Amino acid sequence: MLDNLTQRLAKVVKTMRGEARLTEANTTEMLREIRLALLEADVALPVVRDFISRVREKAMGEDVIGSLTPGQALVGVVQQELADIMGADLGKEATRLNFATQPPAVILMAGLQGVGKTTTVGKLARYLTGETRKKVLTVSTDVYRPAAIKQLETVSQQAGVDFYASESSAKPVEIAKAALDHARRHYHDVLIIDTAGRLGIDEEMMQEIAALHEAVTPIETLFVVDAMLGQDAVNVARTFNEALPLTGIVLTKLDGDARGGAALSVRHITGKPIKFAGVSEKLDGLEVFDPARMANRILG
Ligand code: GDP
Repeated sequence: MLDNLTQRLAKVVKTMRGEARLTEANTTEMLREIRLALLEADVALPVVRDFISRVREKAMGEDVIGSLTPGQALVGVVQQELADIMGADLGKEATRLNFATQPPAVILMAGLQGVGKTTTVGKLARYLTGETRKKVLTVSTDVYRPAAIKQLETVSQQAGVDFYASESSAKPVEIAKAALDHARRHYHDVLIIDTAGRLGIDEEMMQEIAALHEAVTPIETLFVVDAMLGQDAVNVARTFNEALPLTGIVLTKLDGDARGGAALSVRHITGKPIKFAGVSEKLDGLEVFDPARMANRILG
């Protein structure tokens, strides 16, 4: 079992009884422990470095006289900074989906294969029909895997929303445009487009999704990322963020045992808000992202 951060800090705090301020010396020692805790939570190293230097700047000279020990004070600074980076300082607005457009509002889903895109389409569809009473249409442009199109059909049925059947002989852009046209004619409020994912990043896939983006000008482009991805999340997020104007992130599989370091890495690299978290395989397993809860999870 890895020590959690509280245990780690307790050790350091013991050695600095009586110190009433966060100083260069005691802060450095505690930051070392925090650094290890973040690495254990699978936050990518460059992200950890950057984060630690921000915390150091904030913590220096913090007055901790009173009930708090320097250790507790620093944990407070770290927790606040983590929550802010995760979007707490942006407020609730940051997690809302944008519908300020002429309907149908198009939501484009991007991400690698297996991260939970199709499942998330079903969850979002269900969420939007339930919570906001939107009329939703879904479509898959994954012409490479007929099974993926079938999976979206099943998921859409389960969510009780309309599904646009695409021909796997058609081109992804043609499919998306046809679905958009269909959505317009049938007065759908929202069109969610599920896209092909690959096991790794490849140039062709990026060009395809960029072309899709250009063809349908989505109001939301959501990058779906698996919380279990850990360190690798950094490169994947960077590539998608460079290829597409992302508007938000969906972090899936948070019900697994990942400490969630991917959340911090992805937020840090893209600067885009995490809007939702996937917390089960079921269609009701979608939650509006909670930055403070995520901060606590990362710290362990
Ligand atoms: P896609 O290839 O990105 O479309 O991924 P899928 O939607 O097919 O999901 C891949 C696997 O991950 C499936 O077995 C899903 O049931 C599972 N999955 C998706 N989201 C979650 C989640 O939030 N939690 C858990 N535990 N499993 C998930």
